[in-house]
Amino acid sequence: MMAANALRRVELIDGPTPLQRVPQLSNRIGVDIWLKRDDLTGTGLGGNKIRALEFLIGDALARDADCLITGGGPQSNWAMLAALVARRYGLDPYLVYYGLPRRPSGNHALAELAGADIRFTGNFERASVDSALEVLTAQLRAEGRRPYNLPRGGATALGAVGYAKANSELADQFRERDLTPQFVWLATGSCGTQAGLLAGARCLAATYGVVGVTVSRPAAECAHRVAVLTDEVTQLGFPASHGKDLDDVVIIDGYIGPGYGRASEAGEQATRIVAQTTGVFLDPVFGAKAMAALIDAARRGSIDGPVVFLVTGGAPTLFDTSEGQI
Ligand SMILES: *Cc1c(COP(=O)(O)O)cnc(C)c1O
Repeated sequence: MMAANALRRVELIDGPTPLQRVPQLSNRIGVDIWLKRDDLTGTGLGGNKIRALEFLIGDALARDADCLITGGGPQSNWAMLAALVARRYGLDPYLVYYGLPRRPSGNHALAELAGADIRFTGNFERASVDSALEVLTAQLRAEGRRPYNLPRGGATALGAVGYAKANSELADQFRERDLTPQFVWLATGSCGTQAGLLAGARCLAATYGVVGVTVSRPAAECAHRVAVLTDEVTQLGFPASHGKDLDDVVIIDGYIGPGYGRASEAGEQATRIVAQTTGVFLDPVFGAKAMAALIDAARRGSIDGPVVFLVTGGAPTLFDTSEGQI
């Protein structure tokens, strides 16, 4: 029935990632919390982008590409992991970063270890990457290469299929533990992860809500991107079950702090609480801010049931020494 089964995929994740009960954290904030450990997706230093890359690199190989082009900021988890996985499957990785060359740290340093050909746009606008990717793609094509071009964050419907499928993995884990979560809670950036989760949840007629905390875009823009991408994923083989209320794109705003890519005070506080109660390190750009929002919601009393918090990775940005410079 599912066209998604026909999609070519490379296998990067060895079995389901853990779903862990965290009683100390739950007691501390007064809500039953479970951590879905997608920081343990088993390639590089893990993270949510690996689920997308299983399908995106699969597609690049199916199309006989010989190089992969993508980009973002120098601290992009996506760009680093895309380069790493591309290399592993014999594709030459090209990365375009916004801004100016600087001393590599965090993901930028790891992308160099992965052997990525790295260029800078010379412009600090994030969107400067998008046109630079087009130019580079045309250039490589003119040289006789077969480039596969992916947007920032890998946020395409095909990439989001990784998270649409993750719902079945979650459903199995919920059944085993007799768990009925009220929400699956995550940080939203380029919106592919939330869209995939939502499409998969609709398809399975799941009873949990998918809540995204925006860390980079205005909530309205985010909601629009999630809605459009979710519909596209649905068409890739995840038809929504009948009777489901489709007014289910939920975005929480107010936790971006000083800006995308910059740590917030509330996020740092949340990171300390999580590290000291669970032994898990959240990243400052995504996970920290999503957890700050969850802690506030719990304190306000707006959560009743168990919450599954998606730990999305991003460990390399804990070692970013650029001190907020983007
Ligand atoms: C990319 C990323 C996210 C957000 O995922 P999107 O699909 O871009 O919305 C969350 N956490 C981490 C660590 C990420 O790298």
